Amino acid sequence: PKPAAPDIRALAKDLRAGHRAALARAITLVESRRSDHQAAARELVQALLPDTGKAVRVGITGSPGVGKSTTIDALGMFLIERGHKVAVLAVDPSSARTGGSILGDKTRMARLAVSDQAFIRPSPSSGTLGGVAAKTREAMLLCEAAGFDVVLVETVGIGQSETAVCDMTDFFLALMLPGAGDELQGIKKGLVELADMIAINKADGDNLKRANLAAADYRSALHILAPRSEHWHPPVETYSALTGAGLDRLWQKILDHRTAMNASGEFAGRRREQQVKWMWSMLESRMMARLRSDAAIRAKVKKMEAEVAGGRISPAVAAEQIAEMLH
Ligand code: GDP
Repeated sequence: PKPAAPDIRALAKDLRAGHRAALARAITLVESRRSDHQAAARELVQALLPDTGKAVRVGITGSPGVGKSTTIDALGMFLIERGHKVAVLAVDPSSARTGGSILGDKTRMARLAVSDQAFIRPSPSSGTLGGVAAKTREAMLLCEAAGFDVVLVETVGIGQSETAVCDMTDFFLALMLPGAGDELQGIKKGLVELADMIAINKADGDNLKRANLAAADYRSALHILAPRSEHWHPPVETYSALTGAGLDRLWQKILDHRTAMNASGEFAGRRREQQVKWMWSMLESRMMARLRSDAAIRAKVKKMEAEVAGGRISPAVAAEQIAEMLH
């Protein structure tokens, strides 16, 4: 007999009531690799679906040292003071290799960590970026069902994980440092194309002038790029996570973007596209899991690999023969 499956109905009820322990347990269930846990997690997320989707979902990226955790701590407290409940999640594809994530680490967000209106969860460590992203998306839905109306998803400045976080949020915020030059690299990497706003942190003390110069550089750089939406031209703002100056402007821009996207219908469109993309990405990882777990298919794959490597069978024919086994 199988070990007792968790009582999904009771868990869903506690989670909807906003119990943090239930939320933490639910996310653990979503992150579990056990197939019975995964089935239970699917049932749970499906049951909670009507209670999801209402949060403001903001992705935040920036190189190490730019001030992500200071910003999330300050912005989170700013929002909590205005009556919001804030969840902080992270996508860190390196966490599987390093055995732990520094993103979403509670010690980096001292004030939020002790607030009962905040919930901080480090990045899941499940190997591939696709796996990490999928679990973070589900965790986000659980946070929404538990009543968190702002979800901040933190990531590092690495191309693929930025795209993954952009694909799960409504607004993508790129943090930069004062002083141009190096920081304008965001433009080469294509990061700036994803960003709905560029915010230059540490605009305080001696940095103020350099922050304003950097802002001017980014503004002229953004002029050359075609905006993603004709209804939104990504603004460039300066602020200080340390003093809190300008945080109100950042939040107002996020709300303005929401208003503009709602008015044009793009908000609903972006959410719809994301849902379908998530389905495909989950389907892809299930197909890959099947390729790896089914013994007969695995043997065939191994054989085909050798045939292809030896130049005896074309990659196309080999792929076709393997695909035929996926019924
Ligand atoms: P992260 O690696 O992106 O999470 O960056 P942290 O939030 O850990 O910040 C890196 C360093 O920058 C820390 O020493 C912070 O105190 C400092 N820092 C963060 N925000 C500001 C700011 O607004 N002004 C100044 N002067 N320093 C800041």
